[in-house]
Parts: sequence; C-alpha cells; structure tokens
Amino acid sequence: MPSHLFRQAVEQAALAISITDARANILYANAAFARTTGYGQDEIVGHNESILSYRVTPQLVYETLWAQIQRQRPWNGLLVNKRKDGSRYLADVTITPVVNEDGLTSHYLGMQRDVTEVHRLERQVQNQKTLIESVVDSAQVAIVLLDDREHVVLDNQEYKKLIGDLGQEPVLRLLPALRTQMGSAFDQAYAKHLNIAAREVCIPISGRPDRWFSCAISWFEEQDVGADAFYEPMRRHYMLLTVQDITELKQQQEALRINSVRALLAEQERIQGLRETLAGAVYQLETPLNMLSTAIHLLERRFSPTSSPAGAGDITTSTLDEAIKKSREALETLRACIPDHAVAQQQLVSLNEILSDVLKLATSNLLVAGIVVDWIPCAQPAVVLGHSAQLANLFKQLVFNAIEAVNERRGSQRELRITCTPLSDYVEILVEDSGSGIAESLRYTVFQPFFTTKGASKQHLGLGLAMAQEVVTRHGGTIDIDPTVHIGCRVRVQLPLAKGVSHV
Ligand code: FAD
Repeated sequence: MPSHLFRQAVEQAALAISITDARANILYANAAFARTTGYGQDEIVGHNESILSYRVTPQLVYETLWAQIQRQRPWNGLLVNKRKDGSRYLADVTITPVVNEDGLTSHYLGMQRDVTEVHRLERQVQNQKTLIESVVDSAQVAIVLLDDREHVVLDNQEYKKLIGDLGQEPVLRLLPALRTQMGSAFDQAYAKHLNIAAREVCIPISGRPDRWFSCAISWFEEQDVGADAFYEPMRRHYMLLTVQDITELKQQQEALRINSVRALLAEQERIQGLRETLAGAVYQLETPLNMLSTAIHLLERRFSPTSSPAGAGDITTSTLDEAIKKSREALETLRACIPDHAVAQQQLVSLNEILSDVLKLATSNLLVAGIVVDWIPCAQPAVVLGHSAQLANLFKQLVFNAIEAVNERRGSQRELRITCTPLSDYVEILVEDSGSGIAESLRYTVFQPFFTTKGASKQHLGLGLAMAQEVVTRHGGTIDIDPTVHIGCRVRVQLPLAKGVSHV
C-alpha cells in the first residue's frame, strides 16, 4: 500500500492524532488535532505535548502514563487539557509507543477525543441517580422496583426494614396477597400493565399480630440499553410497588370498633336485664294476686246471703275486690314499663366474626383468669340471618359463664374451646370449658329465668341463660347442655344457616 495513502488517512481521520519524538515533542498533528486543541498544525509542531496540560491532572497520572509507555505498552486515560484559547476540555487520550528495528521507542502516537460532553452527561445521570436514590431512601413508605421477571432492581431503606419484619422478600408475600384480594382483576391489571391504586392487604405472621399494608402499583417502560436493542428498540416494563404499613391504623380502627360493640352490648344487656327483671317482678306478683282472687271467691261463697248476716260479707269482699283491682292496675302499669324488643331489621351475620369479636371483648378477663383459648372458626363463612348485637350478647353470656365456671373449679386445667361448624342447613357452635360443670339434674332448669346456682350473695339474677335461650329461639335455633360431657360443660347452640348464601 502506498505510504501517501497512510498519510492521507491519518490527515483526514476524525480522531485527533499527533506523533511525537521520544520526549513528547510534537512532530506531526492532523486537522482533527487542530480542531480539538485550537492550535494550527504549523503552530503546534515543535512544542511539547505538555503545552496542553491544564495542571489540575494529578502528577501521579502523568507518572503512570510515562511508566507505562516507557515499558512500550499503550496507555489510555483521561486528562484535563487546555486549548489555545485557554478553555478546558476533558480528553480521552491513548498513547502508543512506536518501536524501531533496534527495539527502542523512537516515537509516540497520540490519539485523543474530546469527551467533555459525554462526561457531563454521565455525571448528570449519576447525580440524578444519586438524587433519586436518596429521595427514595428517605421516603416514609417502602418502595421497590421490579423488572419483568419480578426481580428487585431498586429498593429503599423502608423496604429493607420490611425484609427483616416479614422474614423474607416482602414482594413474595405482598403480591400473592394482592392477587388473592383482587382476584382476576389483579391478573388483568398485571397483564396490561395497568396501575393499581392503594389496596389494603393483611399479612399474617406466625406468633405475632397480623400486619396490614396499603399497596399501590404503577408501571413504566424503559428502552433496553443493550447493544442488541440499538437498532431495534426493545421495551422493558418495570413495576413500582409502594407499600405503606397501616397496621397501627388498622389496630386503632379495630379497637374503636370493638369499643363500640362493647358499648352496644352493654346497653343491650342493661335493657335486657331491665326487661327480665320487670317481667320477673310481674310474674312474681301475679302469683300472690291470683291467690288473693281465689281467697275472695272463697270469702264470697262463705259470706253469701244464705250463710251470713246481711252486709258483713259484702263489705269485706268489695274492699278486697277494690284492692285487687288496684293491684292489677299497678301490675299492668309495671308490665307497660317493660322495654320492647328493638325491632331492628334482620341482616346477614357472619358467626366467625361475631365469635372472634366476643373473644376480643373477653380477652382481658381470659388473661386474668389464665384460661387457654382454643378457637376453631368455620372454614367456610357461616352466615345466619339475624341480629348481630343479640347474637354477640348470646355468645358473650356463654363465654363469661365459662370463665366464671373455670374460676370456680380452681383446677389446673383452665381451657375454653369454641368451635363453629356448619352442618347441612344449620351451624353448630360449641362453647366448652373445663370448669365446674352443670349437674345432670339442672340441665334444663338452668335456662329458667331467675334460676342461679350461685346463690343470692353473688348478685346473680339467673337471667343469662334465659336470655341466651330467648335469643336462640328468636333466631329459630336451639340451645342445650351436652349430656355426654362430664368434665366441665359444653353448651351447644344450633342456628339455621341463611338461605341463598354460599357457605362454601
Ligand atoms: P512532566 O511530566 O514534568 O515532563 C515534562 C516533559 O519531560 C514531558 O512532556 C516529557 O517531554 C519529558 N518527560 C517526562 N517524563 C519523561 C520520561 N519518563 N521519559 C522521557 N521524557 C519524559 N499531556 C497532557 O497534559 N495532555 C495531552 O494531551 C498529552 N498528550 C501526550 C501525547 C503523547 C504522544 C505523549 C508522549 C505525551 C502526552 N502528554 C500529554 C504528556 C506530557 O508529555 C506531559 O508529561 C504532561 O503534560 C505533564 O506535563 P509536565 O509539564 O508536568 O511534564
């Protein structure tokens, strides 16, 4: 190949090229070198390459450069250069030693490129990345970015904390929980890369209270930066999952709800107690009044005109009649004072929810009594048509009776078991305790109003089980004491399942 072709090729190359002697004195520079440095080709020849040095490049860099090229090895690196006009640029410089036939370095070939703009852009990207990372990191919500294979690309401090809390990669718990909660809507949104607004999910953690999170998903696309995708752009989808821990909020809401249930039950209990007491009082008064009526009839017969002096009997019986009349009026007034049953609309009630609420209400009592609770809810939702407050009161009564019975026995076995089992068209709830139990002879009597095994001193009216029976009857169910249980007590409640509701 003719040598002038080499010269023309170097002369016209887009890369700034210079050739120096062994001490870096410039012997030749091409047109691109002149464009880059601002020195004309004739001006620069004879000068040392150090004319370009801006003096902020550390001395060590030059030392390394020279050490490398003197070993006849090419050197590449970045140098801060100064143009003829004094302006600076960042040069990506490659120096290659030219070795003669004697094996000595006779010249150096220098090639350089102005990479100031590339460097500026790189630094800008780096700065933005650092900025984004610090903003994401300081966010109070957990943030995680996943690629299309659900691999974590970026996460923040809050997310890392969750890894410790949940004991595993949080997305592995949160995404399945979202899927379960949203059903096919999640899969559709996922397939079409649609955003999902804040959804609340519950994550059970063994041995600790459930955790609640509000999760939101948003998607964005990125052009693939791989070489393959240079001419044929490929898009990658990334999923941004933001997670806010709302456990405390949920606990507060639950505490508020339980408190209002407690207040409602207390009020209902008070009215129920009043109703039962007045009804009992009316019942108790009716008996002597009836006896009095009978006595008057007897008197009337004894003092009839045929058997007594005129007038004597009339006065006695009419006075008594008047007394009885007044008493009956008083009794009716008393009866009128009995509060009516609230005629609230019946609604679908989940027994699992009612029973778990009742257990929450009784938690402190159970803890104080040191009772171990075994709560086995229905695997399927057992729904009955009825009044939730009345049903809650019914089970509250049974649970508190059980606690009292366990306290009375003072045995080592202190257990309460509640099971809820749907059986064909009704649901059976068993409330079992390891307490003092109920004697065989009292199995039916305990449901009578004013019957109590506690004695008057304990201030028991003996209305609890009577009320329980009334509620069960009003709901079309049955309640009894299981005769097969001899240690402790098992109260069996059966309620008809609501028709037309799936219990599966
Ligand atoms: P010093 O490092 O103190 O050296 C002064 C001069 O002494 C050098 O320029 C060189 O001529 C000579 N010298 C130093 N050490 C040795 C040695 N070990 N063996 C032989 N001679 C030595 N520098 C830039 O800043 N920008 C460039 O674009 C650039 N391009 C270069 C291209 C080539 C082909 C070569 C060979 C060198 C290039 N240099 C460049 C390096 C440059 O020669 C200087 O080393 C550097 O600028 C530091 O300047 P200085 O005044 O501190 O020189």
